[in-house]
Amino acid sequence: MNEAGEDTDRWTRWGAASGAQPLPESASELLAQLLELTPAPPAVPLPDVAMPAAEPGGAVLAALREAVGTEHVLTSRPVRARHATGLSTPDLLRRRRGRLHHAPQAVVRPADHAEVLALLDLCSQHRVAVVPFGGGTSVVGGLTPTAPAHITIDLSRLNEVLAVDAVSRTATLQAGLPAPRAAELLAEHGLTLGHVPQSYEYATIGGFAATRSCGQASTGYGRFDDLVTALTVATPRGTIRVGRAPASAAGPDLRQLFLGSEGTLGVITDVTVRVRPIPAQTHYEGWRFDSFPAGLHAVRRLAQEGPQATVLRLSDEVETLVGASGQGQSDGGCLLVVGYEGEQVNATAEMAAAVLAAQDGQPLGAEPGRQWQRHRFDAPYLRDALLDAGAFAETVETAAYWSRLPEVHERVRAAILDALPEGTLVLAHVSHVYETGASLYFTVICSPGSDPIDRWRTAKAAASDAIARAGGTITHHHGVGTDHRDWYAAEIGELAVDLLRTVKRQLDPAGILNPGILVP
Ligand SMILES: Cc1cc2nc3c(=O)[nH]c(=O)nc-3n(C[C@H](O)[C@H](O)[C@H](O)COP(=O)(O)OP(=O)(O)OC[C@H]3O[C@@H](n4cnc5c(N)ncnc54)[C@H](O)[C@@H]3O)c2cc1C
Repeated sequence: MNEAGEDTDRWTRWGAASGAQPLPESASELLAQLLELTPAPPAVPLPDVAMPAAEPGGAVLAALREAVGTEHVLTSRPVRARHATGLSTPDLLRRRRGRLHHAPQAVVRPADHAEVLALLDLCSQHRVAVVPFGGGTSVVGGLTPTAPAHITIDLSRLNEVLAVDAVSRTATLQAGLPAPRAAELLAEHGLTLGHVPQSYEYATIGGFAATRSCGQASTGYGRFDDLVTALTVATPRGTIRVGRAPASAAGPDLRQLFLGSEGTLGVITDVTVRVRPIPAQTHYEGWRFDSFPAGLHAVRRLAQEGPQATVLRLSDEVETLVGASGQGQSDGGCLLVVGYEGEQVNATAEMAAAVLAAQDGQPLGAEPGRQWQRHRFDAPYLRDALLDAGAFAETVETAAYWSRLPEVHERVRAAILDALPEGTLVLAHVSHVYETGASLYFTVICSPGSDPIDRWRTAKAAASDAIARAGGTITHHHGVGTDHRDWYAAEIGELAVDLLRTVKRQLDPAGILNPGILVP
């Protein structure tokens, strides 16, 4: 940690070196056979990183200090660098190379909603662009605006539970609360949010709302946007509070305007969410299906006819093979992990087993469920290890209706393999399941080549085009940021883009909030 509480150890990695995971030996062997590994050069130390010049003009700096107190306006190079990007693989590679094209001029840490309002007011007056920053885990360029200079509003001091209504089962949480701390504080009331994305360790409540995040147990608990009952938003024109009752027919639901708005319409300062009692029982188990289409069929039956599971995660043949080789076993087919949380999970599991067996599923018992639980947060650490080993690893995600899902799976795989023809592994799974369709999440592991960032840009564009052509959405849960912006505009059409621009102009007349992100 440095003097500003920054974890410098994490600078070029997802997690602290203390949590690092070595690649399983079998995976290292497989990689060496398949890929041309380019050993990663040592990362440039944080203090030596090149970035644009610091510090806003004197008048702005004085006004920022006046608004939040001098000690909460940070301009040191390490702090600015740490807030300059998110944590996509290209972001990590830029950090390792030690060259940042964007960095905030200052990182400002307001104490509360009133200070956020004051900051937005003064930044509007001085025409200074502003980036709201939660956990900094964006993987879509959501923290890298197109404005040449900006300041970052770091929400880490808004970190309290404001209210718990145990009768209604809601809790009001401040936006900067990291997910693990929110879980700890809710657990004191015997409650849980049930929102557990893979970025759980570092992401925040405000970030979840701003990006419409989705967790590993979304099939049972719902997406984060499903959980939100109310929001408070600070905008350059004042405060908006939406969500007065559990349901309402009072006009369009304006919560939806701010959920997924990615800091372009205002800064979310608190979020009221549905919470549930911590489940009395949990049970996770594995099933095998002969093929991905067979597994998809079975999962759809469960999603449409029940009983409802909490976790449903179906890996395709390649992901199953790679996962199984890590555990020294591999008998083909596709692995489904099913989890149940709540009361009477055994009875639910038994009813679901009858449905899965009728779809030719073969029960594998509790061990695959235990393995999944043990390793559910490993992937980002394994990405660090892959980058260290000289490989490249990144993800692509989408969602589609059931009738289109097999085609989306095929087309996106083909587009990636076409763009990265040699020794590329494309693994995929379905892990967020709805009555009408599901998400698809692809992990790509390939040789880095001489310019991995550029190579990936081409492959990602091909994958995004394939998603659009096959009828998927450009993002199911990572959000739009700058990376998906053009595909998002094409997906919603010109009139809807105009509508968004009009709303933004009303709330943010000086155009200071996250310029270039989400809204084309
Ligand atoms: C390894 C890894 C795994 C991931 N796994 C998942 C996953 O399983 N599911 C999932 O949904 N996502 C996942 N993500 C993506 C990311 O974690 C989510 O988008 C998360 O919701 C971002 O939260 P954050 O607090 O880190 O937000 P940040 O990254 O800080 O910000 C994200 C965007 O929201 C804006 N923003 C942040 N806070 C506010 C606020 N209070 N008000 C207004 N705007 C704000 C920012 O300006 C930015 O545009 C993963 C990312 C990584 C790196």
